[in-house]
Amino acid sequence: MGFITDILKDLPVSAVMREKILKLETDILKVKKEKAELEEQFAELKEKYLQTVREFEEYRASHEQFVEVKGMKFKRLDSGAYSEIPYCINFRCHNSPMSIIDDFGYALCSQCGYKVKISSEEVRHIAETLSIEK
Ligand SMILES: [Zn+2]
Repeated sequence: MGFITDILKDLPVSAVMREKILKLETDILKVKKEKAELEEQFAELKEKYLQTVREFEEYRASHEQFVEVKGMKFKRLDSGAYSEIPYCINFRCHNSPMSIIDDFGYALCSQCGYKVKISSEEVRHIAETLSIEK
């Protein structure tokens, strides 16, 4: 039995009334349980929402700072000019800088292995062109 039936046990209440009260008490306990479950779900959803907002802000900040050219990202520096270091476009690499391997003619991301066929001369040219266009 629950909290209301405990209160009523010594009072003169009819069997019908006791039955009704017991039913109400059961309903209240059921609603309380549902409320607790909903609060738990709400807390989980709130946490997921905040996580998504954080990820979006990170993504947006990253994209405001970078411009994508020929499958690589170029970073805008505080001066307004663009860095000559190309960055990986794979979002999982979180803006990992790419190495330019002129002997083989490509830029390589050491984190994911992503390659772009390009020379250091072309990369420099892209950065200079972006810096002029700014
Ligand atoms: Zn990568």
